[in-house]
Amino acid sequence: MQLLEERILKDGIVKPGNVLKVDSFLNHQMDIAFINELGKEFQRRFADAPITKILTIEASGIGIACLVAQYFHVPVVFAKKAQSLNLDGEMFTSKVESFTHKKVYDVILSKKFLGPEDHVLLIDDFLANGCALMGLIDIVNKSGATLEGAGIVIEKGFQEGGKKIREMGVRLESLAIVESMTDDSLTFRPNN
Ligand code: 5GP
Repeated sequence: MQLLEERILKDGIVKPGNVLKVDSFLNHQMDIAFINELGKEFQRRFADAPITKILTIEASGIGIACLVAQYFHVPVVFAKKAQSLNLDGEMFTSKVESFTHKKVYDVILSKKFLGPEDHVLLIDDFLANGCALMGLIDIVNKSGATLEGAGIVIEKGFQEGGKKIREMGVRLESLAIVESMTDDSLTFRPNN
C-alpha cells in the first residue's frame, strides 16, 4: 500500500535488533486519519469474507483493530497478556514469545467472546517471527471459530513469520512488506 510505504520511509526509524520504530504514527502516537485509511484497505481486501469478529492482542493491536472494525461493523475482541497462569476453565489460553520484549507470555481470551459461530479476522501491527499470530490462531482453533484471515500493517519479510503463516494455509494480507532494512536504507517487497 503506497500510502503506508511512503509514511514508513518518512517517519520510520530502524533500531538495532531488526526493530522498526513507527511510534510517531502507528503504535505509540496514533495518526487516526491515516490508520482509518489502513482500515478501509483491510476492508477492501477482505470484502468477500463473512467476518463477524476482529481479534487482536494487547496492547498495540487494539487501537488499530478498533479503527479497522468500523469498516466491517463487527466487534473487536483482544487477547490479554498475562504474566502468570491463574485461570479457570472460562478462558482460551495460548503461549506467545514476545519479539520486542523477549519474554514468554500467556495470552488469554474469555470463552464468552469467541465461539464456533464466529468468522474471525486477526489484526496486528507487525509480523516478525509469527509468534503473536500463532498464539491468536491457536485461540481461534480452540474456540471452534472459522479463521477467515489475518491482516497485518507491517510484515518484516526477512523474518520467518509470513512464510510460516502462509504455509499453514492462512490468508495473510500485509499492507506493507519490508524486504530489507538497515540504518540508511529500507526496501519493500512489491505487494498490492
Ligand atoms: P512476532 O510475534 O511476529 O515475532 O512479533 C510480532 C509482535 O512483536 C507484534 O505484535 C509487535 O507488537 C512486535 N514487533 C515485532 N517486530 C516489531 C518491530 O520491528 N517494531 C515494532 N514496533 N514492534 C514489533
